[in-house]
Amino acid sequence: MFLFADLGGPTHILFVVLTEKEAFRVSALPDDAIMEEITAMLRGFYGSSVPEPTGVITSRWSHDPLYYGPFVNFPINFGAADLADLKKPLGRLHFAGDAFTVFDGYVHGAYMSGENEAGSILRCMRTNCSATNERG
Ligand SMILES: Cc1cc2nc3c(=O)[nH]c(=O)nc-3n(C[C@H](O)[C@H](O)[C@H](O)COP(=O)(O)OP(=O)(O)OC[C@H]3O[C@@H](n4cnc5c(N)ncnc54)[C@H](O)[C@@H]3O)c2cc1C
Repeated sequence: MFLFADLGGPTHILFVVLTEKEAFRVSALPDDAIMEEITAMLRGFYGSSVPEPTGVITSRWSHDPLYYGPFVNFPINFGAADLADLKKPLGRLHFAGDAFTVFDGYVHGAYMSGENEAGSILRCMRTNCSATNERG
């Protein structure tokens, strides 16, 4: 999927989204090879007047240890009870994120989950609740 962002001046951004095998293949390439490949493809569509890009920024979520993929993906047989367990606090450590709501995959899910957890932390601080919570 290609999207063009017109920033109102001489600067333009081409946003490219890749999925499945293509995402893995391209994210393993160096930035200059990605730039070359996209430029060649665009010149194939629009002709040789397509200018040389000035740079490329690539998300490499599949290799990034803080992500290892873009979207939450629960295994088969992972049910509501598992999810309820997963989001239980671990002592004073609380967990928030889109994956912990029914709106997984959306920013408002992440926001609601953050509000929820902030609320529980506040309640806990006010009532001096126990720092231990059982996880299944
Ligand atoms: C390609 C794509 C398009 C999307 N489009 C939309 C859209 O149009 N609309 C929409 O509503 N949602 C969209 N989403 C979903 C949205 O981005 C997520 O739902 C949202 O970002 C989740 O927020 P979060 O705070 O739960 O997690 P994240 O935004 O993933 O934040 C988690 C943070 O924790 C950090 N982290 C992870 N592990 C550690 C660690 N051990 N130590 C320290 N930091 C760590 C990560 O680096 C990251 O910064 C899209 C997602 C993708 C991938």
